[in-house]
Amino acid sequence: MKIISLLQPWATLVVIGAKKIETRSWNTTYRGPLLIHSSARMKKEHKALCNTEPFKSALAGIPELPLGAIIGMAAITGTSDTSFYMDAKKAGIKLTDDGGNWDDELAFGDYSPGRYGWLLSKPVSFRNHIQWKGELGIRDFEHLICQKCGCMDHDCRACIEKTGRPCSWVSETLCSACLKR
Ligand SMILES: [Zn+2]
Ligand SMILES: [Zn+2]
Repeated sequence: MKIISLLQPWATLVVIGAKKIETRSWNTTYRGPLLIHSSARMKKEHKALCNTEPFKSALAGIPELPLGAIIGMAAITGTSDTSFYMDAKKAGIKLTDDGGNWDDELAFGDYSPGRYGWLLSKPVSFRNHIQWKGELGIRDFEHLICQKCGCMDHDCRACIEKTGRPCSWVSETLCSACLKR
């Protein structure tokens, strides 16, 4: 599994599926599942941003943005330079199969020339947020993690709180506490 750190509110926007393209100054050849970690600190101006549209509507119903934790995952399915997305919008090409909103998407990223957009699919928001130290770039994540609740092989506190005992691993991506649901 791979992991990446994103600033809030963008980390949450990705795991709830509101942000489908991650824009970066660098490209990646990696394709596949990616754990989303939210950075430990949130800047004042980014907090203020959450009270403006389209952030406000997208984040409605989320009481607090988790910081310094693994909050979910998504899969990188492709990357392009930012001009590709600008052209696609102009040409009236749908953002995703189920539509999506280009204006919101562009507001959630930095589409300056020379940057890259990573197309993300299959967003999952974990029920549990496991505290984790952030690292720059895309890194390997060396632990088992349940892709439903986010508990890890060495940190299962959330399952213990819920069921009174630690979970076991049903597969490399599913814990026993989630199997019963
Ligand atoms: Zn689980
Ligand atoms: Zn567990």
